[in-house]
Amino acid sequence: MAGELYVVATPIGNLGDMVPRAVEVLQAVDVIAAEDTRHSGRLLSHLGIKTPLIAYHDHSDDRKVDKFLEFLKQGKSVALISDAGTPLISDPGYKLVSTVRQQGYKVVPIPGPCALVAAICASGLPSDRFTFEGFAPAKSSARIKAFQGLEQETRTLIFYESPHRIVQALEDMVRVFGESRQIVMARELTKTYETFLAGTLAEVLGQVASDSSQQKGEIVLILKGADSEEGVDDVEQQRVLSLLLDELPLKQAAALAAKITGGQKNALYQMALDQKKVST
Ligand code: SAM
Repeated sequence: MAGELYVVATPIGNLGDMVPRAVEVLQAVDVIAAEDTRHSGRLLSHLGIKTPLIAYHDHSDDRKVDKFLEFLKQGKSVALISDAGTPLISDPGYKLVSTVRQQGYKVVPIPGPCALVAAICASGLPSDRFTFEGFAPAKSSARIKAFQGLEQETRTLIFYESPHRIVQALEDMVRVFGESRQIVMARELTKTYETFLAGTLAEVLGQVASDSSQQKGEIVLILKGADSEEGVDDVEQQRVLSLLLDELPLKQAAALAAKITGGQKNALYQMALDQKKVST
């Protein structure tokens, strides 16, 4: 263990989710870097762990990072925990982990609870490819802009959201992604009032706006990605376009190819321009 940093996940609500290896590591290390020492103190005392805690935030000054590096240099071991779930996932730790790694020390993950993973694996939405967006901006104008940048994203989108902003955030999603996009709202995961609301954005917004109990607790939003052009065969598009370009002006050929293949007009127009370029 000497000179090693352990990144340890802790429960996101249910203490029964503390994995045995995490308990062993927290017991065995020399010191624990914690986001909030009072909060983590309660978890450690519940587990009967007496390892000393030192506060750590990414905005702690560099001397804090140096202090942990000094421990590692002396051959001591350090564990990093956050208030809940996996450190660095919308939680502090990045500066410490990247510096420790750069300095050549070993960083060991002790995996465990993480709200985004718990939410997506039970959501029923596609989980083969997804993007985690963390918290969307708090101000509506910035949030709408962030959503607009994701409008065409075909992977499943995962957001963390505060209960105070949940209604406005869902309203902004309806504005940008449309009423009929599928969404799952996972609330209070692993806790007594664990709830999954699934449906279109309009349906889930309706349920949340009309029931104040849905505006409480901790929330993950899982939004289905934009429909991809899967099934629209690129080779087929090129073939149809090429035939039409022999007979029709470029714009007309692109529009007709889009109709025949179900592809997007703009994409077909660009493809037509490219084909013309190659043939001249
Ligand atoms: N590091 C944590 C993780 O691994 O998921 C996330 C920390 S972030 C500061 C806190 C946010 O995570 C909450 O606002 C909520 O969006 C989400 N979250 C954490 N615990 C949750 C739970 N039990 N149920 C639903 N969402 C949760």
